[in-house]
Amino acid sequence: MRENALTLSTPGGPSKLSLLGLPAPALVEFFENIGEKPYRAKQIMRWLYQSYVSDYAQMTDLSAALRKQLAELTSLALAPVLKHEHSDDGTRKWLLDVGANQAIETVYIPEPDRGTLCISSQAGCALDCAFCATGHQGFNRNLTSAEILGQVVLAARELQPAKITNVVFMGMGEPLANYRNVLPVVHLLIDDQAFGLSRRRVTISTAGVVPHILKLAGDCNVALAVSLHAPTDELRDRLVPINKIHPIAELLDACWKYAEGQASRSITFEYVMLDGVNDSVADARALVKLLRNRPAKVNLIPFNAFPESEFRCSTQPAIDAFWQTLRNAGLIATVRRPRGDDIAAACGQLAGRVRDRQRVRLGDRVIGA
Ligand code: SAH
Repeated sequence: MRENALTLSTPGGPSKLSLLGLPAPALVEFFENIGEKPYRAKQIMRWLYQSYVSDYAQMTDLSAALRKQLAELTSLALAPVLKHEHSDDGTRKWLLDVGANQAIETVYIPEPDRGTLCISSQAGCALDCAFCATGHQGFNRNLTSAEILGQVVLAARELQPAKITNVVFMGMGEPLANYRNVLPVVHLLIDDQAFGLSRRRVTISTAGVVPHILKLAGDCNVALAVSLHAPTDELRDRLVPINKIHPIAELLDACWKYAEGQASRSITFEYVMLDGVNDSVADARALVKLLRNRPAKVNLIPFNAFPESEFRCSTQPAIDAFWQTLRNAGLIATVRRPRGDDIAAACGQLAGRVRDRQRVRLGDRVIGA
């Protein structure tokens, strides 16, 4: 493991409007308000999201006067990098300072045919899933659109000439519990004037905020991953407490509705493999009953331990038998290879730094509005 500390942030006054993460129509409105032509929005988006420039001075097709005005009124500041780690397997992790002593994490996972960026949507998480490091930290706040998209801009800038081909909302937080700030980011990721990724290369992962799954189907319809982790309500109530509010039948119903809007694409169901908890062949058979003949694929995730975790990862024979049971029943199933676990960058290990957390967790109230 190598480690180096970097600071790449551009200083910007807290009172200035951040143009990062601003939806295209809002950017057009901004330029109209300062007496500029609407096409300035497209120019700026190309500079920010295709050339990854950090400074207005580099935006050579804008007049000097406009560049000066933009620098006075607005900010392109990114969250300062507190730590940047490289795993032996090529995975990279950034720890970013989002103010008030909170820090979030972003992970880049290179593979031969793609480069996936895993981004955070909240400082901490309120959903309190029993096996997740972020959940153990508690919840502090939602990230802004600028903070969410800023992770992509930072990584894109630092990784050049390597490209980010996929973005997954599988870092810290529950993206569908921060819907208002996540949706503009998703739009910019797939907008040809901005990052221009295809819809199937942007994945929202959710523990099951059902009303927002249905809303997303109408608003954007990118790839959906659902953290199922258990085939019965009794077990899922314990592992993924939001199940007490939106139980499995309601969740799956929303998933099938979501899939109806997607031409021949399926929902990915994530299933963390916990030794002796949810990994028996009987559990696999129950999972088959839920998902067979549906637009579904299953991604088995070997549990990644973290310091306070009370679970162990399933044994290899148990994972093999579970996988085989799904395959024999005709389900598409894969086993996720842990990446970056030497730098605690694997699924569920992202803890960042969450201070002054709100005491309220899912067990105490309804989340997702
Ligand atoms: N809140 C979103 C994103 C969370 S992280 C969601 O729940 O989907 C992405 C995936 O990692 C989720 O499936 C999550 O359940 C899983 N995960 C969490 N902790 C884990 C751990 N310790 N080991 C393996 N996977 C874990």
